[in-house]
Amino acid sequence: MPTSVLPQPRHALDNLMEEAGDIVFRLNQQGQLLFASQRAVARIGSAAPLVGTALARLLADLDQVQLAPVLAAVLETRAPRLLEARLKTADMEIWHELRFSCYLNADGAPELLVVGRDMTVQHATEERLRHMATHDALTELPNRLLLSDRMRMVIANARRSGQGFAVATIGIDGFKKVNDGLGHPVGDAMLRMAAQRLRKTLRDSDTLARVGGDEFVAVLPGTATEAQIKLVTGRLIATLQAPFEIEGHTIYMGASVGVAVYPQHAEDEIRLLALADAAMSRAKETGKARAVVYSPADAGPPQHDISLEAAMFQAVREGEFLLYYQPIVDAHTREIQGFETLMRWKHPTLGMVPPARFIPIAETNGLINLLGAWALKAACVQLKQFEEVAKRNLYISVNISPRQFRNDKFLDVLDDAIAFSGLDGEQLVLEITEGTLMIDPVHAESILSKMAERKARIAIDDFGTGYSSLAYLKRFPISVLKIDRTFIRDLPGSQKDGAICNAVLDLAKHLDLSVVAEGVETEEQLQYLEQRGCQYIQGYLTGKPMAANVALAALKESIHANVVPAELRQVHP
Ligand code: C2E
Ligand code: CA
Ligand code: CA
Repeated sequence: MPTSVLPQPRHALDNLMEEAGDIVFRLNQQGQLLFASQRAVARIGSAAPLVGTALARLLADLDQVQLAPVLAAVLETRAPRLLEARLKTADMEIWHELRFSCYLNADGAPELLVVGRDMTVQHATEERLRHMATHDALTELPNRLLLSDRMRMVIANARRSGQGFAVATIGIDGFKKVNDGLGHPVGDAMLRMAAQRLRKTLRDSDTLARVGGDEFVAVLPGTATEAQIKLVTGRLIATLQAPFEIEGHTIYMGASVGVAVYPQHAEDEIRLLALADAAMSRAKETGKARAVVYSPADAGPPQHDISLEAAMFQAVREGEFLLYYQPIVDAHTREIQGFETLMRWKHPTLGMVPPARFIPIAETNGLINLLGAWALKAACVQLKQFEEVAKRNLYISVNISPRQFRNDKFLDVLDDAIAFSGLDGEQLVLEITEGTLMIDPVHAESILSKMAERKARIAIDDFGTGYSSLAYLKRFPISVLKIDRTFIRDLPGSQKDGAICNAVLDLAKHLDLSVVAEGVETEEQLQYLEQRGCQYIQGYLTGKPMAANVALAALKESIHANVVPAELRQVHP
């Protein structure tokens, strides 16, 4: 090691350091002070002379034993080292970054130079940044990121202790009205007050996070029984029902709460949140200002979920997507005429993820083109096998999302599926929604005519929920209307829904369209529809969506079974 390059300490150097606002020490090889700059003395505030003191004695975090190897390394390698430690001063301990380097004294012996920089401001900035990354700026509550961390901790504790806990999603009812009607400043003030009120009703050990515009999540360790949940959610709702006085306005709000419980409903944080969210949606749908505990009947949440999105790309690679088939039957004979293909995602830990959760995400990130193309081809191939077993012609109905329909490659995908499977075009029904047609009617017209060239038929899915104008039914080459299940659900009791179904059936008759009634769950519904001329039925009554092998078994059975005449069926259902 050429010693000549090492800096020689001079008073000038000490002075320079003083000017720069740093504190400076020089140490002997044992770590005792040979010199302390004025600034160092002032900061430490010691009346006794510092020279001769071990540096370690001035530090809160390092003792002599811990410091010795650092000094030895600097002396040996002659390369500088950085350490962070708190410097003890008269009334507090201040974080410093200490830079240790080696120099040769006038006798040519190595000694140590220590330059210390006050890190208080930097630490505060780092702390602030950490806080910003993990907290919501408006309410100062933990954000989604910190919520995830906390939940994982709570889950780990619960697993150890065997004690369950609840997660509650709290949505403020009608917040949008306040924001739109009274302006954002009032909306913001309301959210801040709401956050404070919610926080006050909870215990210190509970976590309250803000996860969306008007959505909060409370994690409640130790709250797991029905009575405990009722008590806490009741308080949460009540505190938001008290009037808010903001800038001269008196605002009355409410809250809907959804609850999921560990471990009964789910054991991981993503799913717990999703289920609590689904329960909250049901609370909102069923009258608001109430708490609903998750039950398996709740649909999955429509919320865009980043972790789910990441998992989806993985799932495509791993082949976790599969197709289920739901029979579409003749309303009169109940013979299976075809199947609707419904996509499923079999996630290794979340279980079956329903399409309502992942299709909207796939639609946003474009993955739907890939998934949709696969589904179309796989469904066509599957139909061939169904036909072989059933020994007759069947048809397959495939959902086409708006983005797929608009994709330039869609016709190629269609041609490929038909050619590969060897199906006749007319055995294929493509289900699209009214919205898909209306986004760009001119483009739609051209695509539909090309589909018609291939003899594929077009069905309007969820008919009745989209556009009120029916003119498009004449304009486009449409073959099938699928009545949305919301119009079927309350049949035969609901007069209004009955009127809608009758109107659709009439319309279809005049335009020479087939009708499929979706979501038929009861015998009464089926009879009501059949009597009014509805040809086809799809619903849990005549077959739930099922895996391909189950569908095959159903087809096999149906060849052997005698089809029961409708007259007898009414007596012996
Ligand atoms: P959809 O096209 O309206 O499909 C019918 C939905 O109703 C299915 O839900 C089905 O399981 C459900 N269903 C059928 N019968 C009954 C019944 O009797 N009662 C009740 N309550 N529900 C019934 P699923 O499988 O969860 O699919 C939801 C939606 O996801 C579908 O609605 C469709 O829009 C979309 N989807 C499913 N598979 C695909 C796909 O391969 N591609 C595209 N683009 N969308 C798909
Ligand atoms: Ca459909
Ligand atoms: Ca539908």
